[in-house]
Amino acid sequence: MLVFSECRGLSMRERDLANHILNHFGMSNNDQPDLAWIAQIQGINVQYVPWIEGDASGWFRENDGHPIIEISSNKSRTHQRFTLAHELGHYFMNHGDRARDTYQQFRLREPEEISANRFAAEILMPKSKVEEFLSQGLSQAQMAERFGVSYESMGYRLDNLGYEYDREYVF
Ligand SMILES: [Zn+2]
Repeated sequence: MLVFSECRGLSMRERDLANHILNHFGMSNNDQPDLAWIAQIQGINVQYVPWIEGDASGWFRENDGHPIIEISSNKSRTHQRFTLAHELGHYFMNHGDRARDTYQQFRLREPEEISANRFAAEILMPKSKVEEFLSQGLSQAQMAERFGVSYESMGYRLDNLGYEYDREYVF
């Protein structure tokens, strides 16, 4: 499997970038693309650590051109998965060394953070897959399960795509 490099750093919509990556790795039809494998092929050193300074969820940085992603292993499985997708967004969009991603940071209005969150949503819950699941009559909870994301993330995604979602659980 070749390293995906053609689009790295190019200005591209998050959706297009995520789709290019999924196609490149032959994962377009997977409900849960193997993000760890993508990171491995790209030569990213992914480390799961029990605690990151500031109780951060994740951290992307480059050490002499060697990309490193740290993921906090004390968060839930779905939280870790979203964090890995978010940090991969920083990597693929060439955002350079980032501050540690705390929960607050995910909600900041900094353009790179918004962009990384968009990328994460696109690669974890591609629009076409969401629509396929909706047409099959899957509920928000069932879709969250299939995608390996939290119920809340699924709610945000449905809302962003203009579909009905369970507002009670969206913070
Ligand atoms: Zn970030």
